Amino acid sequence: MKKSDAVLVFVVMLLFTSSASGLPAGAEVRAVPVANGLYLVEGLEGGNVAFLVTDEGVLVVDSGTSPEAGRLIMAEIAKKTDKPVKYLVLTHYHGDHTFGLQAFPSSTVIIAQQNTADNIRHLNEPRIRGMMEKAMPEMVAAQKLAVDKLRKKKGKDLKKEEERLQELEAGLAQLRELRFVYPAITFQTKLSVFLGGQEVEVVHLGRAHTDGDALVHFPGLNVLHTGDLLFAASYPYIGVEAGADTASWIAAIERAASWEVETVIPGHGRITDKQGLLKMAAYLSELREAVKGAIAAGKSLAEAKKMAPLPSWKGFDRERQLPMNIEAVYNELIRK
Ligand SMILES: [Zn+2]
Repeated sequence: MKKSDAVLVFVVMLLFTSSASGLPAGAEVRAVPVANGLYLVEGLEGGNVAFLVTDEGVLVVDSGTSPEAGRLIMAEIAKKTDKPVKYLVLTHYHGDHTFGLQAFPSSTVIIAQQNTADNIRHLNEPRIRGMMEKAMPEMVAAQKLAVDKLRKKKGKDLKKEEERLQELEAGLAQLRELRFVYPAITFQTKLSVFLGGQEVEVVHLGRAHTDGDALVHFPGLNVLHTGDLLFAASYPYIGVEAGADTASWIAAIERAASWEVETVIPGHGRITDKQGLLKMAAYLSELREAVKGAIAAGKSLAEAKKMAPLPSWKGFDRERQLPMNIEAVYNELIRK
C-alpha cells in the first residue's frame, strides 16, 4: 500500500469500522451535560462533538465521522432545544471531525481556520474521490473474487471473508453518500462568536496536530475543547500530511494551559482537565528527546521505529500509533 493510501485509509477507516457507520456497535448516543448549556455527545466513534445551547441558538464543535453520525448529533440537539443550530466550528479537517457536516441545516454557519478550509478542499476531497471512484471499488472487486474462490473450494475462512466483503460494501456505500460541505467563514489566529450573551473564542495557536487546528474556549464556562491537540490517555495521530509540528504543538498546549480552564474536552477520549492536557505535551517532549537520542546515536529511521514505549507512557491506548509518531518526529528533527 502506498503511503498516501495508508493515510487515506486512516482518514476513512472510521467509516467502515464495526458497524460501517462510524458508530461503535451497540453504542447508545446521548448528549451529557458538561457545564451550563454545554453538552458532549457520547457514544460516537471518532472525534468528540460538543454543543452549546443558548436562548439565541446553538453552536456545535465538530460534526461527527459520517453523515449518519451527523444526523444522530442533530437528533440529540433537538432533544435539548428547539432553537436553530447557528454555528458549527471545525477543530480541523480530518474526516472523523468533518464527515457529518452535510447533516446540519444549510443555514448553519461553518467556521474554520483558513488552513482547515484549504485542507478540506485540497486534501480531503481529492483523496475521498480517489477512494470512492477507484481504490474502494477495486478493493470490493478483489474481495468478491476471493469470496467466490472460497465458495467453490468451500474454504474454511469463507464466513470471515464474506463479512469483510460486507464491511467493504457498506463502507463504499457510506463514502458514496458523502457530500463536501465547506466553511463559510475562516480566520487566521482568533475569532469570537457572540451567542446568547456568551463569548466563544476560537483560537489557532500555530501548527500542532495539523496546520489548521482550532481550539474552542468557552471562557464563561471555564471549558476548553482542544480538538486533536489532545488524545486523552492515548498515543496521538500526528498529521504530517497537513503540516503537523510537535515542537509548536507542545508550545500550543502550554499556552492553552495558561488560560482559565477547569474542564478540558479532548479531540478523542474522555473529558479531563489541564493536567490531562499537559500529559500530551509531556509525551511529545519525551518522544522528541528519545528520538533525538536515537538520531544522535546514528540510528536509522527503521531502527528508531522499534523503540519500546517509555514507562511513563504505560496504559496509553492505540500503541500502533507509536512507530508512526516516531517517524513523524524523526523526520521533523532531521529536517530542522
Ligand atoms: Zn485529527
